[in-house]
Amino acid sequence: MVERHVAARGIADERILQAMREVPRHKFVPAVVAAKAYGPGALPIGAKQTISQPFIVAKMIELLELRGTEKVLEIGTGTGYQAAVLSKLCAKVFSIERINDLALRAAELFRELKIHNASVKVFDGTYGWSDQAPFDRIIVAAAAPAVPDPLVQQLARTGKLVLPIGEAGKQRLARVVRVGTGVKIEDCGTAEFVPLVGRFGWRE
Ligand code: SAH
Repeated sequence: MVERHVAARGIADERILQAMREVPRHKFVPAVVAAKAYGPGALPIGAKQTISQPFIVAKMIELLELRGTEKVLEIGTGTGYQAAVLSKLCAKVFSIERINDLALRAAELFRELKIHNASVKVFDGTYGWSDQAPFDRIIVAAAAPAVPDPLVQQLARTGKLVLPIGEAGKQRLARVVRVGTGVKIEDCGTAEFVPLVGRFGWRE
């Protein structure tokens, strides 16, 4: 999977490729789609949600430019796959999921796989995780209508926030950095994510 669907599509960072080789993706996807765990596509994970394509996971992580020392906030734990990859590339991952069952299953897998530097909580991630802020990096795995303000507030001065923005069919991947009291938004191409549902996301 890593050679064919990630490296061959242009991800060159050997640390990211190695982290993805180490995480057993088949354990994260539901048994009915486990045969496709190492394929190129997004897969259903229940509750109308999906685990992203391996290439997109790698591309978003690449945009974060991790060095290994960062405290990272992830919104949209889903299966926990992306958080597991992140856990190998930074110091600590804080991940928020709004669907209880998904969060529980992800936390169980982290224990099973001895991933000790990733925590999961059930909450509306558009509020961020204020008692752990600031974060060096924030990554959002669901598409927002606009950059959620609490996430900018919780981003370290020199931090980076990567998220998809826009409605279905018109999403763009964005990288956001703080500049003075505002933000600079860099366009990083098209995206296709489930909606970010919450107070600073799409309303239910
Ligand atoms: N990163 C995941 C895939 C995430 S799919 C993986 O590797 O498997 C997007 C997830 O975002 C879904 O599980 C969805 O329930 C969650 N989500 C949507 N809105 C959210 C919110 N406001 N707070 C937290 N999680 C949210």
